[in-house]
Amino acid sequence: VMSGLDPKDPDFKYLGVDRKALLKELGNVTFDSKKVCWVPDEKEGYVKGDVISREGGKVTVKTEKGEEKTLKEDDVQQMNPPKFELYEDMANLTFLNDASVLHNLKQRYIKMLIYTYSGLFCVVVNPYKRLPIYTNSVVLKYKGKRKTEMPPHAFAISDNAYSNMLQGDGESGAGKTENTKKVISYFAQLTALSGGKEAAEAVDNKKGTLEEQIVQANPVLEAYGNAKTVRNNNSSRFGKFIRIHFGPAGKIAGADIEFYLLEKSRVTSQMGGERNYHIFYQLLSDYAKQWHDKLLVAPDPGLYSFINQGELQIDGVDDSEEMKFTDEAFDILGFSAVEKNGMYKATCAIMNMGEMKFKQRPREEQAETDGTAEAEKVAFLLGVNAKDLLQAILKPKVKVGNDYVTKGQSLEQVNFSMQALAKSLYHRMFAWLVARVNQTLDTKAKRQFFIGVLDIAGFEIFDFNGFEQICINYTNERLQQFFNHHMFVLEQEEYKKEAIDWEFIDFGMDLAACIELIEKPMGILSILEEECMFPKASDTTFKNKLYDNHLGKSPNFGKPKPPKPARQRRTSSCTTTPAPSERQQGAHGCDVFPSNGGDAKSGKKRKGGGMQTISATHRESLNKLMKNLHSTSPNFIRCIVPNEFKQSGVVDAHLVLHQLHCNGVLEGIRICRKGFPNRLIYTEFKQRYSILAPNAIPEGFVEGKVVSGNILEAVQLDKQQYRLGTTKVFFKAGVLAELEDMRDEKL
Ligand code: ADP
Ligand code: MG
Repeated sequence: VMSGLDPKDPDFKYLGVDRKALLKELGNVTFDSKKVCWVPDEKEGYVKGDVISREGGKVTVKTEKGEEKTLKEDDVQQMNPPKFELYEDMANLTFLNDASVLHNLKQRYIKMLIYTYSGLFCVVVNPYKRLPIYTNSVVLKYKGKRKTEMPPHAFAISDNAYSNMLQGDGESGAGKTENTKKVISYFAQLTALSGGKEAAEAVDNKKGTLEEQIVQANPVLEAYGNAKTVRNNNSSRFGKFIRIHFGPAGKIAGADIEFYLLEKSRVTSQMGGERNYHIFYQLLSDYAKQWHDKLLVAPDPGLYSFINQGELQIDGVDDSEEMKFTDEAFDILGFSAVEKNGMYKATCAIMNMGEMKFKQRPREEQAETDGTAEAEKVAFLLGVNAKDLLQAILKPKVKVGNDYVTKGQSLEQVNFSMQALAKSLYHRMFAWLVARVNQTLDTKAKRQFFIGVLDIAGFEIFDFNGFEQICINYTNERLQQFFNHHMFVLEQEEYKKEAIDWEFIDFGMDLAACIELIEKPMGILSILEEECMFPKASDTTFKNKLYDNHLGKSPNFGKPKPPKPARQRRTSSCTTTPAPSERQQGAHGCDVFPSNGGDAKSGKKRKGGGMQTISATHRESLNKLMKNLHSTSPNFIRCIVPNEFKQSGVVDAHLVLHQLHCNGVLEGIRICRKGFPNRLIYTEFKQRYSILAPNAIPEGFVEGKVVSGNILEAVQLDKQQYRLGTTKVFFKAGVLAELEDMRDEKL
């Protein structure tokens, strides 16, 4: 069907399958779907098996490994005929089961065909190597093509979604961020290639075109918002929603970025094998030597306790070169020398904060400084008075009634304040950075449509889960709910709209109960917020309140189990692990509240006079995002990490199956199986398939619906396999492929 690409084209190899050649290669292998099956296997997920005998609901097989096994019929899965090898859209497979989906994704992945459709969405498996599939020449091939004309690709989704929305979500390291970048660069390249001349005008020496600027926002955001984690050398530690605005004629007219939940804890602490944000190491690299004197830093990350707790370097990454890219990206984005300098100084101030030393005064509740040189550096870089800075940390003023009094601080409290200050400063700097980038991307051109690209951290389940994890996981529950709604509710609404004969199925994918448990009044977050107001509250009082309110009352709430082996990351639809980390850091203050005004938008006070909590602010911005998403027609790219070793071409079957289960891919395919995933409007159907039954086409005008019905009756298609709607004909999975075969025979 894919007329858009010639097998002789050099780009073809990485994009498509030459199906004619493949079928020839397969030759006339005899295939009997009753004689073969997929057999569960400890290591491979599933292996091929030849059926030896069937008896009383049991089947005896000989696996391709040579083992003979007897299993329940229900435990083996049916295999698709060879012509479905390396299939582009899995919704068309005759047998849609876990084994077939895994097999198809794996075979394609081995050939580095990383994108595959599965009916209503796209799946991509991280290639862990650069593939020549994002070039200008490929962009031009996808331009203006229909989805079915070209092999699966993020570009196809982008092009399809010209004014739609795309959203990714998946395991860390799965490729969400990379695919987000590809989608954005698709639009930027497209505009540039179709002669973005006006944009190139009125640009001074260093500053880039709008398209360049949209693309270059990334290195800057990544320098400040990405870090090496155990699972991903360039892991985004914040979520983002980028909207590209288009003018009435479809030209790019500007862009804006909203960010969510920057991981603040990383600014002061990292686990083994991980790093702090890239920018710290970049600023200490060779390229930044030119600035080291005025930034008051030494070129050795090992010296700084805020950034030396895990690793100092990343394999294959040159921080010096990256610094150059970051700095140039700043230029392209139109940052002035003063602005860049301000960012770098604030970043180095934070690094130096970790070196400020304090000690406890003997026989007193009060801490004092242990040398002032570091505090002076910090103060100098921030442009504040060193004495004031120390005073604020050692003896802060607090408001009591209408008066301010100074309050003594213990060593523990002082160290906690320093860390809170560093984290808060970093967060505000990041918020400023995003706002400044938005200023650049905000042209005055008229806006008519937008395409939004959402990229947020996937579910996180660690041995120790803190406040940041519940925020991230809560966000994911809501996005998964959005996805489910589209896959399972809206799909069925389409059937209803088209008035086809259909019994509504509840797929049991409703996450509302879990979401409510977290966000409703007296839910987990509100109890946590409330506890943070009580001076005497502790982990235990918080835990007890959770138990009192929810234990035994919600199926989603349970006592934490002892940690399972690392593999088990996403166990159920909801992960509730009451282990609040924000309190363990110190007796006073807690991360649930921004330590001094905090969030970008939350200078605002609450009714009660206190600061708005981080979780309440986040809930608000999430509500705004969801409203935004609901106003669009979304497209989904589900990103799959193939193995835990960042190895190209290696598939860990169980890891992949686990992800397919968790992110709803397999469930999504299940609805395809029960429902009618393929549809064609009548005129299109008539045009393509009249050839199957020329005698069934009456002369003169006849309604498309009637003609289509006639054709389908003439070819004697089982009535259960299709439905005639008001404007479209709907097919069960795989039927369209059969019709295509019939058509091929006629041609
Ligand atoms: P996530 O955002 O899901 O955590 P990333 O998008 O950061 O994951 O991907 C992790 C790493 O995997 C990237 O840094 C890159 O090395 C590699 N990668 C992911 N997708 C691709 C791709 N399409 N092509 C090449 N490399 C990729
Ligand atoms: Mg990411």
